[in-house]
Amino acid sequence: MGKYKLDMHIHSVSSGHAYSTITENARYAAQIGMEAIGITDHAPMMPGSCGHIHFLNLKVLPEYIEGVRVYKGIELNITDSAGRVVKSISKGIF
Ligand SMILES: [Zn+2]
Repeated sequence: MGKYKLDMHIHSVSSGHAYSTITENARYAAQIGMEAIGITDHAPMMPGSCGHIHFLNLKVLPEYIEGVRVYKGIELNITDSAGRVVKSISKGIF
């Protein structure tokens, strides 16, 4: 059994700079004894991230994948007046 039961800030390949799918992340979490993960891919303004339809469609995923509760969220961006991302904040959607 692992040291941690949950991790609420995990990226998938949809963020553009991570290399695992949501299912792969859930499978690994199950292998190390975690109970829950939060998928918080970067919002669309982060270079390399996916579009907003990705987040709207997260509702089609089951609550449990590989026996691990999967919370769906987003890493929000705070931008300056020029539209550059200056800060990111994790936020649960459901
Ligand atoms: Zn990131």
